[in-house]
Amino acid sequence: MKAIQVYQFGGPEVLAVHEVPTPKPGPGEVLVRVRAAGVNPYDTYMRNGAYPVKPALPYTPGSDAAGTIEAVGEGVAKVKPGDRVYTATTLTGAYAEYALARENQVYPLPEKISFSQGAGLWVPYGTAYTALRHHADARAGETLLIHGASGGVGIAAVQWARTLGLTVIGTAGSSRGLELVKKEGAHHVFDHSKAGYPEDILKATGGRGIDLILEMLANVNLGTDLKLLAFRGRVIVIGNRGEITINPRELMARRAAVRGFTLWAATEAECAEIHAAIAAGLENGTLRPIVGKELPLKDAPQAHIDVLAPGAFGKIVLIP
Ligand code: NAP
Repeated sequence: MKAIQVYQFGGPEVLAVHEVPTPKPGPGEVLVRVRAAGVNPYDTYMRNGAYPVKPALPYTPGSDAAGTIEAVGEGVAKVKPGDRVYTATTLTGAYAEYALARENQVYPLPEKISFSQGAGLWVPYGTAYTALRHHADARAGETLLIHGASGGVGIAAVQWARTLGLTVIGTAGSSRGLELVKKEGAHHVFDHSKAGYPEDILKATGGRGIDLILEMLANVNLGTDLKLLAFRGRVIVIGNRGEITINPRELMARRAAVRGFTLWAATEAECAEIHAAIAAGLENGTLRPIVGKELPLKDAPQAHIDVLAPGAFGKIVLIP
């Protein structure tokens, strides 16, 4: 089979297609014929060797795939060959024609959800759900700022937040992204590339401030976020790419809190809840993964450049 293999950590150019043996499912494992693989920013950190988790080389990147079950190993009862599934991490990597996964790493993909959409489920929707439900204690009626709403996690957060009864404010850095965030349900949108936009956000709350902020770029925005918070406001750090100086007094005056998490540390019970919520949301139409770009597998280097570039528009996926 064809698979992207990384032989050394480095820039996007280390992502190259290789011919490798197709894996065989062992007991409790399934083989997925990958029809689309989701590209997430952390795939680039891992490829660089900058991520806390360093895979043994060579490795195939990617945790989010969608496709059909090709074969099942001994004892697998949950799925059978031909079933449509999405993956929540795999054993052998998603950027490939086939991926091996444990039985409990695959979940049903409804007919009405395309494979490309399915490749945008686990990390984006799992992260947004756990942020809102497990870490932010989001309550209906609260005001939520999704700081970076035009990408994979942001769009998922907009859609989840609307189902929870929050007033949603989303930011993006392009007019296309702003339109998308609005279309997917944000009540107000602001351009985070424009000077003075935080003041405009504060005005939109009537000066009261924001109850909850989901932050996609904390190293740039955390200081500003604290100034935007309402009394007992919370910032949930989802994305961060460096250090930042903040004034802790902003927290004291508001009895505010900053929290962070990683999806990887979600418990088994939290993961089960996330997948159940995804299944319900796909079924009732409140979750609608947005695919902005589909690229062939060989263009993985370009996908890694694009996913970090400004102008996000939902997900970027690779088609093996
Ligand atoms: P993505 O699809 O690449 O989207 C990135 C988002 O950040 C876009 O909405 C982008 O907006 C926005 N952004 C760019 N500059 C910004 C700024 N100055 N202020 C606010 N937002 C800005 O990435 P993603 O998949 O949504 O992930 C978002 C972040 O969360 C990444 O850093 C990722 O590594 C992290 N993450 C963390 C976890 C976790 O477990 N904690 C899980 C998943 C993702 P424009 O392009 O429109 O400017």
